[in-house]
Amino acid sequence: MNYDRILIRYGEISTKGRNRNKFVDKLRKSVRIALSGFPKIKIEASRDRMYVVLNGENAKAAIEKLKHIFGIQSFSPAIKVDKEIETIKQTSLELVQALYQDGQTFKVTAKRSDKTFELNTNEINHAIGGHLLQNITGLKVNVKQPDINLRVEVRSDAVYLSCETIPGAGGLPIGSGGKAMLMLSGGIDSPVAGYLSMRRGLEIEGVHFFSPPFTSERAKEKVIDLSKKLAEIAGSSITLHIVPFTDVQQAIREQVPENYTMTSTRRMMLRITDEIRKKREGLAIITGENLGQVASQTLESMYAINEVTNTPILRPLISMDKNDIIKIAEEIDTMDISIRPYEDCCTIFVPSSPKTKPKREKVNQYESYFDFEPLIEEAVQNVETVTIKPGEENRQEFEELF
Ligand code: ATP
Ligand code: MG
Repeated sequence: MNYDRILIRYGEISTKGRNRNKFVDKLRKSVRIALSGFPKIKIEASRDRMYVVLNGENAKAAIEKLKHIFGIQSFSPAIKVDKEIETIKQTSLELVQALYQDGQTFKVTAKRSDKTFELNTNEINHAIGGHLLQNITGLKVNVKQPDINLRVEVRSDAVYLSCETIPGAGGLPIGSGGKAMLMLSGGIDSPVAGYLSMRRGLEIEGVHFFSPPFTSERAKEKVIDLSKKLAEIAGSSITLHIVPFTDVQQAIREQVPENYTMTSTRRMMLRITDEIRKKREGLAIITGENLGQVASQTLESMYAINEVTNTPILRPLISMDKNDIIKIAEEIDTMDISIRPYEDCCTIFVPSSPKTKPKREKVNQYESYFDFEPLIEEAVQNVETVTIKPGEENRQEFEELF
């Protein structure tokens, strides 16, 4: 049986009222990018659903691509037929026959948004169910747990038949929620935080602090590879800002007592990230912080660090257990990159006993003896901004598109 289209259900976005058009547009864009390797496919989007019209392209291969798109609740390979009961019966029979294996059970679930149709849902269920029972030997009805659930949707333009519902990736379409800056280290957590933010509809730009010669090119490569993975997930390129941080770090080391260097380093990172955010017109900053994990991530630390900005800081991992974070990192394939053993700029000048309960007054006092502003401005001016495209496997089709 050849399906002629894939029906996409929006799920959560369909509850978004007046913003719905924006959501649908973003989703349509994600679908178009993901299916760019199938030139004959056409996308038809309406307020409450989307159809990928296959025009002879392979349904299975297209479904594999759709499984990773945020904003899709579920999808079903489907067939569009005329609103004519004999045609519906015939095509239903072909569809179920193609799937049926000896001894299986079925049911028909009719739905009718076009109330002018000659039969009501019960009558449709009976007419089609009866036709299938007559023509497929051994087929039995089971309304509670059928092996095959034939959905018959009578809509104003046509009738749509489908038998399978495949779960989508959920979430919201990327970019539908605006833009935020992701503070991306080479560690396990921040890529996961980026993934979860994209899943909730954010567009992200990475900001990475790099301290040559204390951190090597290898450490930078790691972050580029992580960004590539995130770009693959996004299905589009990701902007990465690489901040030269050596001078700021040296100044902190010279000006601030050792047990407060970590607090101060984080504050400077946040100030710089916020400047980049302003330039890029983002509305929030995302980190991979997780409550209580290390000295910089106690509530007292967050309170002292967060003082430098009132931009919303999103911490998607804040309450998660490390094991759960690792599970996601493995699923999204960033784990192997994150555990490569290259140093991070925060690990090079680690004080032997960082304050776990730093005080705002103290850190402000220490920072007041030196004017960090020019160094911050210089770092922002010398940011290297790169566009990271999705990894190898998607590269070709991606490049064709842009
Ligand atoms: P991660 O695994 O993301 O590195 P972590 O548990 O190692 O997190 P920290 O190293 O304390 O924790 O970093 C906390 C957060 O600060 C990171 O998740 C990241 O968002 C940000 N961060 C740390 N180092 C850098 C860096 N070099 N560049 C950009 N952001 C950073
Ligand atoms: Mg880290």
